Amino acid sequence: MTETNAKHESLPQNVGIAGFWETIRNAPSVALLLDYDGTLAPFHVNRLQAVPLDGIVDALQGIGRHTDTLVALVSGRPIAEILSLMPDPGVTIIGTHGFEIRPPGEEIKVMLVDEAQQNLLDRAELDAEKLISKQRTERKIATVAAHFRGLDRLDAREYESALTKRWLSYADLSMVEVRQFNGGLEMRALGRHKGIAVAEYLATCPPNTLAVYLGDDDTDEDAFKALREVGGYGIRVGEPSQTTAAQGSLSSCDDVLRFLQKWIKERTNQ
Ligand SMILES: [Mg+2]
Repeated sequence: MTETNAKHESLPQNVGIAGFWETIRNAPSVALLLDYDGTLAPFHVNRLQAVPLDGIVDALQGIGRHTDTLVALVSGRPIAEILSLMPDPGVTIIGTHGFEIRPPGEEIKVMLVDEAQQNLLDRAELDAEKLISKQRTERKIATVAAHFRGLDRLDAREYESALTKRWLSYADLSMVEVRQFNGGLEMRALGRHKGIAVAEYLATCPPNTLAVYLGDDDTDEDAFKALREVGGYGIRVGEPSQTTAAQGSLSSCDDVLRFLQKWIKERTNQ
């Protein structure tokens, strides 16, 4: 058994879904949706240096060149940041948890956060700057993030608890959410998430398109649920998660690379 598994590690990926590759081979139309961090790009201490694993960009280009797959990247990062970390793959990119979308060859479209949310984010930004520092406060379209990476652990914990208390004291938290992320705390406007963005994207694909989504963390769960509703497949990357809505799994970015290479073989000359 162990020997068989060891052999399979170097072979194209089995994602744990019965008949998966046969289904992919036979589907009249296929869409492949991919998260960025932890899926295409291994984590890096400095998030602005988290570039795709070697071979991933080639594989994405290969899918574009040799197959009829509709491809979209789906990330919490702003689109401009993704494009600063990798060559433009020429596919649809959905950024900032669905607040931005850029179809191939077009301009980035931004969904505006509503005014009340904007006001809350403005206030959260000012408070973070006051309580921590301007340098450690980052404002994006739909979020304010306070970064604690590199701080003494106790300091980081103190800052986080003071900021959490302040942000949670705001009157209307039904429009935003406050949550920790790896290295900081953020306030995020509600109303868009990866699941909504993915459902909208799939609605623009030909009828009966079989969709597959690869992602590694909790924000991808909304997308996995959206895929289930349209008969697609979610594949969770990384440590096994007991609470995932994904039907399949891959253990690492290396496995994602092998998965993409296998995809090219299966969909070539369709
Ligand atoms: Mg991720």
